[in-house]
Amino acid sequence: MASRDPVADLRRIAFLLERANEATFRVKAFRSAAATVSRTPHDELVERAAAGTLAKLTGVGDVTARCVAESLAGEEPVYLRRLLSTEGTDLPAAAAELRAALRGDLHVHSDWSDGGSPIEEMALAAADVGHEYFVLTDHSPRLTVAHGLTADRLRRQLDHVAKLNAQLPDGFRILTGIEVDINEDGSLDQEDELLARLDVVVGSVHSKLRDDSAKMTRRMLAAIANPHLDVLGHMTGRKVAAAGAGDAAHRTARTRPPSTFDLEKVLAACVEHDKAVEINSRPDRLDPPKRMLTVAVEAGCRFSIDTDAHAPGQLDWLGNGCERAALCGVPADRVVNTWTADRLLEWTRSHG
Ligand SMILES: [Zn+2]
Ligand SMILES: [Zn+2]
Repeated sequence: MASRDPVADLRRIAFLLERANEATFRVKAFRSAAATVSRTPHDELVERAAAGTLAKLTGVGDVTARCVAESLAGEEPVYLRRLLSTEGTDLPAAAAELRAALRGDLHVHSDWSDGGSPIEEMALAAADVGHEYFVLTDHSPRLTVAHGLTADRLRRQLDHVAKLNAQLPDGFRILTGIEVDINEDGSLDQEDELLARLDVVVGSVHSKLRDDSAKMTRRMLAAIANPHLDVLGHMTGRKVAAAGAGDAAHRTARTRPPSTFDLEKVLAACVEHDKAVEINSRPDRLDPPKRMLTVAVEAGCRFSIDTDAHAPGQLDWLGNGCERAALCGVPADRVVNTWTADRLLEWTRSHG
């Protein structure tokens, strides 16, 4: 039997585990094995498989060695077959249609902040998922627990992304961005000059989530009116389940009720300033709740359906958001990530 590509099989397993929100350490084993195997000459792999010494390679353990041996023998690894057989069911028709219309993702983390993978790996996985682009939105300085980027590190990241974009496959592009903390006074936690340079700015509340409604409303309204902000991230900050993989910033709390604010005013401000309300697809967030999402549709808001991915496999979580969006009657033409990158940038530039 012809040999399969063991690196592709290991990466596929890692992707499926991440998508299933499995613990980071389980995924890491497959990603580090993939890295080692990709550096090892094919002949050596075949020899080691025959001699039973694959697990002697650094980064390869018994489980991953078995996968590699099966793959080299031309068999689908048992581990992969088992994962594929327990994959989720298909999306309902309306959600599937919306999912098919999405061209990218506006909320993605890398290992520059609290994500688990390098930007390049996230980009290759996004291209595989069929995206034309994603916006790299690592955290801002104040969120030290998530290794938020200082202005200097963000500047370095921008240079790095420019280089990566020159090397990536045609038809895929990394857009620059940030998930900037909305400070208590509603200002944004990064230098104005930098925010102005970024393609897309997602702003989120990560602190003082239990503040009273009047205070939280003022804070959110100020941020929405800020010309740099394009997307209001996970608007209620609620947590519905424990996070599995990746995300130091979001893992500290298990579940958390939504914050309280004047929904009508906040949504009206989003419409007035033409900002998008994020539909966050993380299984532990699913924010905003459906009743709020329905009100936002009626208010005339724009939306962006995002994954908030902290690992490559999580880039495939958009279906969660699409399912909820479809249930709440979100029309595809009001979802900004159904647009091409160029049209998206035209829209974000219109905010100044
Ligand atoms: Zn966040
Ligand atoms: Zn995030």
